[in-house]
Amino acid sequence: MSQFIPLSVPNFGAREAALAGEAITSGWVSTSGGKVTEFEQALADYVHMPRAVACNAGSSALHLAAMAAGITRGDEVIVPTLTFIAAVNPLTRYVGAEPIFIGCDDSLCIDPDAVEAFCAERCELRGGKLYNKATGAHVKALEVVHVFGNLGDMERLTEIAQKYHLILIEDATEALGTRFTAGKFAGKFAGTVGDIGCYSFNGNKIITTGAGGAVVSNHPDWAEHAKHLSTQAKTNLLQFFHDEVGYNYRMTNVQACLGIAQLERLEAFIAHKKALYDHYVEKLDGVKGLRILPFREDCTRPNHWFFSLYVKDFALDRDEIIEKLQAQGIQTRPVWALIHEQADYPRNEAYALDKALDYRKYIVNLPCSTNLSMEDCDRVIDAVLAL
Ligand SMILES: *Cc1c(COP(=O)(O)O)cnc(C)c1O
Repeated sequence: MSQFIPLSVPNFGAREAALAGEAITSGWVSTSGGKVTEFEQALADYVHMPRAVACNAGSSALHLAAMAAGITRGDEVIVPTLTFIAAVNPLTRYVGAEPIFIGCDDSLCIDPDAVEAFCAERCELRGGKLYNKATGAHVKALEVVHVFGNLGDMERLTEIAQKYHLILIEDATEALGTRFTAGKFAGKFAGTVGDIGCYSFNGNKIITTGAGGAVVSNHPDWAEHAKHLSTQAKTNLLQFFHDEVGYNYRMTNVQACLGIAQLERLEAFIAHKKALYDHYVEKLDGVKGLRILPFREDCTRPNHWFFSLYVKDFALDRDEIIEKLQAQGIQTRPVWALIHEQADYPRNEAYALDKALDYRKYIVNLPCSTNLSMEDCDRVIDAVLAL
């Protein structure tokens, strides 16, 4: 049988091995050592921000963002339901807040019309704060997740956040490198438009440090606070005084070496993803009722992280397709089960779900690794066409 084609795997080379090897040989394998600072600066330079705070996971980055933004017990946060669970738990239950779930538009990102309607109809502004009329709680923040590397509608969402006094948090864990090319935010990167943004360097993301994450913020004191919280909130290095409850969310020096090497290759990875995506579009979009969902390429340069085959009008259903491709050694997957349906969340409010339910039912994510060869991409295409 021909080789297994995974969905999305790391792409490490000689440079990653050399840099990580140097860290190991030098003995600087833990959270001290200069490479974390070097990686933070390289990342900050890449996304045109003054600083970035590295940490040990995207989930930790989101938890740090929630704490830096001051989200706390009793607050409510408007979040998307079509996303990975780690976009929601850290901003809500980790800090004692509750989510309000909103569906998506055709970008797969949170639907600004539905957010606006929720704020206008179900909330009221009092003393500069937005209150949920049903629960009486302070609705403090709005989260946009740039799903699969596609930028959400930031022009609308920033306006809504301003009008309703909401902190705007960007989960850009899937969207490192995605940026605006036109409009009000031309040149700005995903994660750098709102109040605070988060990245992930988990193994399946566009660049990886094995596990890792980072926070950037347009409020320098929030970034500073995130760093402080990630390093046990220590105020005195020798005497071990701590001024609040902190966390050990630090990135290690070895991970930072991987990050430095991966960041050097990010633009090449994005170019390869685009070539793969364009190839899938050329061969599959519009064939036999199949579609490849678009990215917002009119005003953004997406990183094309994950590709979505949309199978509503195809002869086989989502799970049959996944199973048949798996039998041929090709790994695909459905989009995440919606968060408002997950274990502890069905009691929370959820609005404008139609599109999220539809995309949940009909999306199959296709192999998209940055080291997927064009030959293997053709093998996936042929297998789909032969279904
Ligand atoms: C990957 C991801 C995260 C979490 O990142 P980890 O590094 O795995 O903790 C959060 N949100 C979304 C949307 C993600 O895809």
